[in-house]
Amino acid sequence: MCGIIGAYSPSPATLAEDVYLGLYALQHRGQEAAGIAWTDDDGSIVCRKGPGLVHTALDQAEMSRIVCRSAVGHVRYATAGGSAACNIQPLTANTLARGSFAVVHNGNLPDAQTQRIALEGRGALFQSSSDTELILHLISHQPGRPFLDALSQALRHLKGAYSLVFLHDDKLIAARDPWGFRPLVLGRRGDVTYVASESCAFDLLGARMIRDIEPGEIIVIDQSGCQSFRIPHSSKRQFHCAFEYVYFARPDSIIDGVSVYNARKNMGRALARSCTRCLGGCKQLERPLVTGLPDSGTIAALGFSEESGIPYESAIVRNRYSGRTFIEPTQRVRELGVLKKLNPMKQMIQGRDLIVVDDSIVRGTTSIKVAQLLRDHCGAKGVHMCVSSPPVAYPCFYGIDTPSRKDLIAARLEGEALRKHLGVDSLFYLSKAELVEAVGLPESRLCTACFDGNYMEEEDNEQSDL
Ligand code: AMP
Repeated sequence: MCGIIGAYSPSPATLAEDVYLGLYALQHRGQEAAGIAWTDDDGSIVCRKGPGLVHTALDQAEMSRIVCRSAVGHVRYATAGGSAACNIQPLTANTLARGSFAVVHNGNLPDAQTQRIALEGRGALFQSSSDTELILHLISHQPGRPFLDALSQALRHLKGAYSLVFLHDDKLIAARDPWGFRPLVLGRRGDVTYVASESCAFDLLGARMIRDIEPGEIIVIDQSGCQSFRIPHSSKRQFHCAFEYVYFARPDSIIDGVSVYNARKNMGRALARSCTRCLGGCKQLERPLVTGLPDSGTIAALGFSEESGIPYESAIVRNRYSGRTFIEPTQRVRELGVLKKLNPMKQMIQGRDLIVVDDSIVRGTTSIKVAQLLRDHCGAKGVHMCVSSPPVAYPCFYGIDTPSRKDLIAARLEGEALRKHLGVDSLFYLSKAELVEAVGLPESRLCTACFDGNYMEEEDNEQSDL
């Protein structure tokens, strides 16, 4: 998963700094690397990028001195291509025929390898292992076509998730795949136009969200304003990622017209209804307390508490300097990460039944550790794990880094066996229907493949005729 942002101003402005700040707001979408590219006075593209968080990878002071008309930025969380330095974005290309361009990409192209082999057969030399580079090659393999034409023809050949922002010729060009897997929004402050993965980036920049970029839309932003085009491709239906609402996006973002915060609160409410029904109104629980695993479970836990009337406490405190443990590269570090990150308060928990709300269970590492901590270290009477999404039983091929099926605990175990494995007294998941209702978009517009295995299959993509 990654975060992207672009900025365009008709007159020179400190846009690299804007992009830096925007990336800072999008940091939750990727913590491995960050980069910014901008168009220099002479039309050439300059790029700074490196491993680490935004403030380590980039020099804010340098960014604040840059004056330009367009800039793009990227925070990376490797899903395709691994963490090698050559995969850090923006990717740039300098050509004699088409000038220079830069691209930032959020999403994943599952058939990138097949397309890459075909292009290599025609002489293309790839420099990275990222699927994003494929897009640059598809553009360059359309000799004689103007850039925009070549871009829309290239996108016609892509099947999968892509939210993209390009720099080219002092223009900013944004595109979202026809299925709308990953979010992409348009915003404005004065005469500066922005595109970003999430609207929370606009809040920091003092910009106003204008609208979502539509699935299948290309927007060209230049001196003459914003022009909208369509990717020559008709998709049968949309596939907005449901997991963005469950976990990935920031709660203060609005994605495809839906407040992530409200969606999460609704998930918690729905969970409370089915959970209290199963626990017989929770009457036999000892001084029950609802808590959320911070930060991802907190909002659903509030919804749970409001709906059930069971008090909420922030009984588990999160070390605010630790990142997302899931992103740690090895299982051992992931396990230590849970302890480094979460500290339950014994005095609040001892002798009580704890309803612990988390957004999702993937490998199960977090739930097992948390249940142990609550029971063994804090003396909880019971641990009731309530998950505000359905079981994650299938890998994502469209940009969320879920592990392969064999590592997904819900693919191997279910029901009573899973409850025992996690070491909890009860285990509740949200159903898919409840999730869809909580988000509020029709099921036919959501991708729920990680829950039900219904991938966007043979959609009506045009065959490659390159
Ligand atoms: P696990 O410990 O493997 O069960 O992971 C579950 C926790 O990781 C949940 O609390 C989520 O907040 C978080 N999580 C779920 N999916 C992802 C993901 N793709 N990337 C990063 N974190 C995730």
